[in-house]
Amino acid sequence: TEDLNRVKPEYLKSFQYESRLMPHTWIVIRIDGCHFHRFSEVHEFEKPNDAHALDLMNSCATSVLEEFKDIVFAYGVSDEYSFVLKKESQLYERHASEIVSAVVSFFSSMYSMKWKEFFPQKEMKFSPYFDGRAVCYPSCQILRDYLSWRQVDCHINNQYNTCFWMLVKSGKSKSEAQNYLKGTQAHEKNELLVQLSGIMDYYNTLPLMFRQGSSVYWDKEMKVVDSKEEGGAGKSRKIAVVKYCNIIENSFWEAHPEILD
Ligand code: ATP
Ligand code: ATP
Ligand code: MG
Ligand code: MG
Ligand code: MG
Ligand code: MG
Repeated sequence: TEDLNRVKPEYLKSFQYESRLMPHTWIVIRIDGCHFHRFSEVHEFEKPNDAHALDLMNSCATSVLEEFKDIVFAYGVSDEYSFVLKKESQLYERHASEIVSAVVSFFSSMYSMKWKEFFPQKEMKFSPYFDGRAVCYPSCQILRDYLSWRQVDCHINNQYNTCFWMLVKSGKSKSEAQNYLKGTQAHEKNELLVQLSGIMDYYNTLPLMFRQGSSVYWDKEMKVVDSKEEGGAGKSRKIAVVKYCNIIENSFWEAHPEILD
């Protein structure tokens, strides 16, 4: 009988470490591409910003919102995306490992499935994959601080990368470009860009998607769906939209109070 007890489900389940995320808090799942420095090189992404690669990330994120309806907002830049679940979400009874693994595997398989749509001429040479983590933010203000941090990071990295690649394209080696930029301030980088490009305020002429990152959320406007598979003729449903907005300032959140209500 002792042998039989040892394969009882209750006994074996008692070893499972239960990590439930704190109730009434916004859960953020942040995923990030693994070794995308290499992935982007092998697949010849345009540097510093490949628009097709970003469009692919945004399309995958939109599918994530459509699959996991508790996600109210997502913000993405480079090879990362943050997904915000509404604070009352009971997805997987708030078990971190289930939520993270489901979102990450859904995103990764979407990335491979949609690849051809965004890179019709490029063969995928090896499997991209992502890691993920879950963090709870207990107040709207702290959640907004988190999102602001990601958008500030987007700006700082983009400014650096834009300078770096402009120096490289002008003939410097990668290590020369790196040394050249070491310790430079934001305004010095801006001046450098004007000098190298010959365009006043060059940085601000770059596409908004590169400078602001991408935000995905449910639009207030309903879309009328005609096709049968999407729920029948004449019915309407919400759609997830991709926008490039400033999410640090209050104005975005004031215009969209329903997102974090
Ligand atoms: P890790 O596995 O630790 O995340 P990583 O190589 O993915 O390492 P990150 O810090 O996540 O490093 O940076 C992602 C890298 O992927 C960027 O530095 C950039 O080189 C590349 N990358 C991602 N998206 C794009 C894009 N749209 N266009 C060009 N390069 C990109
Ligand atoms: P959940 O999302 O909760 O895991 P589920 O639908 O995946 O729900 P599981 O309890 O994981 O349910 O069971 C997997 C189901 O997938 C099986 O009940 C079976 O119907 C189907 N399935 C999986 N593998 C096979 C297979 N090789 N051949 C036929 N059916 C399969
Ligand atoms: Mg990482
Ligand atoms: Mg990465
Ligand atoms: Mg990254
Ligand atoms: Mg299951």
